[in-house]
Amino acid sequence: MNKKIEMTVPLVEMDGDEMTRILWKMIKDILLIPYINLKTEYYDLGIKQRDNTDDKVTVDSAEAIKKYGVGVKCATITPNADRVKEYDLRKMWKSPNGTIRAILDGTVFREPITVDTIQPYVKTWKKPITIARHAYGDIYRNVEYKAQEPGKAELVFTNNEGKEVFREVIHGFKDTGVIMTMHNLDKSIESFAKSCFNYALEKKIDLWFSSKDTISKIYDANFREIFRVVFHDESYDGKPYADKFEEAGITYFYTLIDDVVARIVKSEGGMLWACKNYDGDVMSDLVASAFGSLAMMTSVLVSPDGCYEYEASHGTVQKHYYKHLKGEKTSTNPMATIFAWSGALKKRGELDGNLELVNFANKLETSCIETIDQGIITKDLDQLSEVANKNVVNSEEWLNLTAKHLEVLLAQK
Ligand code: NAP
Ligand code: MG
Repeated sequence: MNKKIEMTVPLVEMDGDEMTRILWKMIKDILLIPYINLKTEYYDLGIKQRDNTDDKVTVDSAEAIKKYGVGVKCATITPNADRVKEYDLRKMWKSPNGTIRAILDGTVFREPITVDTIQPYVKTWKKPITIARHAYGDIYRNVEYKAQEPGKAELVFTNNEGKEVFREVIHGFKDTGVIMTMHNLDKSIESFAKSCFNYALEKKIDLWFSSKDTISKIYDANFREIFRVVFHDESYDGKPYADKFEEAGITYFYTLIDDVVARIVKSEGGMLWACKNYDGDVMSDLVASAFGSLAMMTSVLVSPDGCYEYEASHGTVQKHYYKHLKGEKTSTNPMATIFAWSGALKKRGELDGNLELVNFANKLETSCIETIDQGIITKDLDQLSEVANKNVVNSEEWLNLTAKHLEVLLAQK
């Protein structure tokens, strides 16, 4: 066995819940620790630990990402009423991802992991579609109220001098109903726009942005306008984004969300699709499923000051966990979680000038993709893989077979 790869700066490691927590440990034990002297600062974001710390552990982990620059996160439970009962929680804690995004204020980029032996459901798609999800505000930071009786709901804005600047009736309720308000910040939208323009330039892909500004003439139109202004007035490498895009031979294109949905389905793929927070939440699952499996979608949160948080875009795979608890060996796909690790290790390696770590992360990704292309797959890919002799295995078997393949790749110079 060769010497293990050393790391200089720790990765911020955020453990999570249920089946993905089980996979997390397996991935470390089988694919990482045998090859790397893994240096991490560990935060347990498992639901019980969040409950025990009044969710302080989540805030601490986000602060640690700010300090070190790179984190990797396991999927976590966002509690609802059922979960509060199931885990005997003291409170219905907020979504850890929401909390982390609010602290880092970034953009989430989600890209499907494509393999040769799985064809997307949409026949025209030839290249991966990356979704950029604005990670601040809108319904994720809403204020809601259930009107229990007739009455009046108003939107009021009072400035810091205490002067009422705006008041408008939302609705006069004659009966019960619901109300929701939400907000966003120009600064956050601006950094969202910049992150998207930067990412498109880095990857040399077209950028599409969509909202519903025909209906929302102030809120959504504000997004459209900020994107337009940043594109023409802000510079990148000393030149306006617009000029940089022209030089790179790529385009920025704005249209309505419903129009873009229709165009995406008829496209070849290969673009970056910038979405508002909720659109990105929904569309990334749609795109992931249409490319094959939810388990094959990676996710990275990029903050305006250059911090990176990598994760899988799927959840804790609750149903598989209950099978696991009954003693069954499940065939849960660890791909997206492995790619969260490889993405984080690669970024750490790039930042620290640790070429060995970068090479390892690349080979880890190749070994996973080639294992699938050889027909060694988890159950979710059974219907999708076009390999003639498929071998459907459980998670642990898949990880062990991938490790074997990785060893071959690592032995090559
Ligand atoms: P989920 O965990 O994404 O799973 C939904 C279904 O998708 C699974 O039942 C499974 O289908 C399939 N699936 C997802 N990932 C898979 C994988 N790696 N391998 C194989 N199949 C996979 O969503 P959920 O069940 O709605 O949510 C469970 C918990 O996750 C919730 O408590 C939610 O709060 C949390 N969540 C967390 C995050 C995050 O931390 N980023 C994101 C979303 C949800 P089959 O059962 O048909 O096999
Ligand atoms: Mg979602």
